[in-house]
Amino acid sequence: MADGNRLRVVMFPWLAFGHIIPFFELSKRIAQRGHRVFFISTPRNILRLPKLPPHLAPLIDLVRLPFPHRHNLPENVEATTDVPPHLGQHLKKAFDDLHGPLARFLEISAPDWLIYDFAPHWLPPIAAKLGIPCAYFCVTQAASLAFFGPPSVLLGVDDRTEPEHFTVPPKWVPFPSNRAFRLHEIRRTFENFSQGPGVTDLNRLGSTIQGCDVVAVRNYREYEPQWFRLLEEELYKKPVIPLGLLLPTEQDSGDEKDEKWVPIREWLDKQGKGSVVYVALGSEAPLSKEEVTELALGLELSEFPFFWVLRKPPGSAEDDSELLPEGFEERVKGRGVVCMAWAPQVRILAHPSVGVFLTHCGWSSVIEALMFGCPLVLLPLYIDQGLICRGFEEKKMGLEIARDERDDSFRRESVAESLRVVMVDEQGETYRAKAREMRDIFGDMDRQDGYVDDFVRYLQVHRGRAKAPQ
Ligand code: UDP
Repeated sequence: MADGNRLRVVMFPWLAFGHIIPFFELSKRIAQRGHRVFFISTPRNILRLPKLPPHLAPLIDLVRLPFPHRHNLPENVEATTDVPPHLGQHLKKAFDDLHGPLARFLEISAPDWLIYDFAPHWLPPIAAKLGIPCAYFCVTQAASLAFFGPPSVLLGVDDRTEPEHFTVPPKWVPFPSNRAFRLHEIRRTFENFSQGPGVTDLNRLGSTIQGCDVVAVRNYREYEPQWFRLLEEELYKKPVIPLGLLLPTEQDSGDEKDEKWVPIREWLDKQGKGSVVYVALGSEAPLSKEEVTELALGLELSEFPFFWVLRKPPGSAEDDSELLPEGFEERVKGRGVVCMAWAPQVRILAHPSVGVFLTHCGWSSVIEALMFGCPLVLLPLYIDQGLICRGFEEKKMGLEIARDERDDSFRRESVAESLRVVMVDEQGETYRAKAREMRDIFGDMDRQDGYVDDFVRYLQVHRGRAKAPQ
């Protein structure tokens, strides 16, 4: 490609792996089209990235910005996965201290575009001053964005301050569906994200959307056309571009001989086709001790083989074994595996022995599962997971584990019952058939790449046309 046509794009994800991974996937796709990418994160997170394919490595600069130290955070903390959720606001404060080094980097590198995440509320004025156009890349579905409203609402010109206000659809425009949060989901979100110092997540999102030239969303338009239209025409009044799903390939997950993967594969190889329940609740899900107990006993009760990725709360003093109910590991020995480390999720989901995925409804997790036609049992916890769950239920793309109406808790019996329905019952055939149908739709990788083509074309046409500083 002639140098004049080659874009230079800076990517700056939030410090959560549910964000870093899709930003990395988008970086690879931009580089595949011959453009130059500067992928910025902290040294530890850059080290944790999957390996770049050799043909893309020369086009993607992995830029390490040293992470500012803060006294409220333990050493070596650089991502949400390293901290208990209640320290998340301190992580964001430390992240905000990156503004000086990042501004200097942008000044020196003078990119054609800056693609950022929801968190750096301070970045749009810096980019505008330097004349760099910005895209906000939303790593989840359009419907979740729409629920939180236009920038004016996000920036606080709204009375939605109590968790109860989020349990009904918002009122500012007619909404295409009745989906809303359950009280426990939004309470948990408030508890984890409103504690401590600093700017709230909704304010951050408001500033980054208000300050960008274009919004890019990780979904395809045909999946949720009415939500894309709502965002573009009613809520943001600026271009909202679908990027497709940006799914990693199984090969991207690492070497077939990887020492973490080999024992897992050997165990999965020994199980029957479609017989295993894979349980994983993302990179940062905050399960309470009671929830761990009910989940464990539900898995035991179901009698299915299972592979459970269980994240011990960071900073917890308990031994791994103290987290689980007494005698549990002994009783399920040979039938179930509890993995306390980072697991190669995409590889696991691709394995033919996996029959059901019990998921927290992180957007990456659910689309990774459907890419392999894996039916879903849904256990949303917080952030936008409840909205994703409601949308999946509307489309019969998963079954939510029943919760007690009085306090929103779930019990072992509901866990076992939902697994049984989706795994083997006749009435669960709807979910299994829907998962197969979605595998075929998601398998149409060409179309997803077409979305990236359109986006890159947009970046080329509009390079160097930043909004005026506000
Ligand atoms: N993931 C993984 N191994 C783990 C935990 C998570 O590979 O042990 C990956 C998973 O495949 C997905 C991402 O981390 O790509 C989690 O993103 P998601 O949106 O599902 O949930 P979040 O972590 O943001 O809640």
